Amino acid sequence: MKVNADLHCHSGASGGVGDLNIEKVAETMPLKGIELLGTGDCLHPKWNATLKEILNEFSEGVFSPTFDSDIKFILQTELIFTCAVKTGRKSVHIIFLFPSFEVVDKIIALFEKWDVKNTIGRPFIKCEDKNDVAEKLYQMNKIDDLIEIIPAHVMTPQGVFGSNNPINHLEEFFGDSVELIHSIETGLSADPIILGLIPEFDNLTLLSNSDAHSHHLARLGREFTTLEVKTLSYPAIINAIRTNNIVRTAEFNPAEGRYFLSGHRAGKKGHNDKFCVFSPKYTPKNKICPICGKKLTIGVLERAFELSIAQGGNRELGFLPKNSRPFVHMVPLVEIIAESYGIKSTTSKKVLREYQRIMAVLENECDMWFMKPEKIEAKLEGVVDDALIRNIVEVRKGNFTFEPFGFDGTYGHLVIGETRDYLNVNISPKSPQRTLM
Ligand SMILES: [Zn+2]
Ligand SMILES: [Zn+2]
Repeated sequence: MKVNADLHCHSGASGGVGDLNIEKVAETMPLKGIELLGTGDCLHPKWNATLKEILNEFSEGVFSPTFDSDIKFILQTELIFTCAVKTGRKSVHIIFLFPSFEVVDKIIALFEKWDVKNTIGRPFIKCEDKNDVAEKLYQMNKIDDLIEIIPAHVMTPQGVFGSNNPINHLEEFFGDSVELIHSIETGLSADPIILGLIPEFDNLTLLSNSDAHSHHLARLGREFTTLEVKTLSYPAIINAIRTNNIVRTAEFNPAEGRYFLSGHRAGKKGHNDKFCVFSPKYTPKNKICPICGKKLTIGVLERAFELSIAQGGNRELGFLPKNSRPFVHMVPLVEIIAESYGIKSTTSKKVLREYQRIMAVLENECDMWFMKPEKIEAKLEGVVDDALIRNIVEVRKGNFTFEPFGFDGTYGHLVIGETRDYLNVNISPKSPQRTLM
């Protein structure tokens, strides 16, 4: 059976915007077409207690809410491991999946032994060096070898290959425990094409997750992975991840991702309303911001090129490893609706009303991205405005871009009806406030 899974979320305990509430999530997930969700923050005392109260075991390691609902959960958290690497002290976000509440309780006890402060949703695990990282991951693995360790959003600044104190091989951070890693999360600013530049990923499973901090339609399920499993159970899910039994991934468009290109956003200290953004070819050689004189935030695309060279890949953009799986690019439907009506907020009443109208005739949003444009058109005729239908179909056909592309923590802004290949960006440093080809 096929399962649409989004295995990386956060509760309110992780900070950021909003808070995940199981009842609200249960309303959003069927609309999006997500069947299996990571609980987020399952080690956090308060959220852990809520989860124990509100979830019943549906099958081995898979949980359903105590109220009437078809949605399912698995126990998940994100942890931040830090250790010294040759470029400085590096922090790496890592997703963990757990087979049961008992195992989660044993991990909490282990963290007490390690003196980990477990009062935030995403605790820090401070390590001396890569050997210490490996030692700690092996200790966790010893509790249960079905605990899955997935480096999160690998290319963003906080990911293992991110621009903060960069390293060029997984081993430089994970030491020997690299053998415990079977998969990585692509992150919002990267897709299989970009990650295809990096030889070390050739034999790993690529997973896509939303990293949502709220139940909102623009966040939950904005990336997901369709897994092929024999039964809907935790061991079967882990087996699918470890054997790359992935049907497809649905990707956020990298150009919309907050770390796609290199640059400094407006509003940064010394910037006022000026910003600078560079495609890899045009980033200043010293990687220094021409406006404020500080180090630029290096984007995902540029890091992928650097890693390709460092790992001896010499690959052209567009190369897909033989183990890669089919994927599509999506734009959250609420963003298309908001853009169509010139509304800023994707949670406004008008946007949600139109969204509900569309979902009354389409199965769910995820399915829409795998539907032929003509079919979408036929189904929506007379249901919503023609202009909105046209915009949805344009996006489904790939006729859209972002202006500017995402960089330094800012999402790209959707423009429908124009195309600009995200893989072919040429942004020059000559006019740093507004740098487009
Ligand atoms: Zn993270
Ligand atoms: Zn700057």
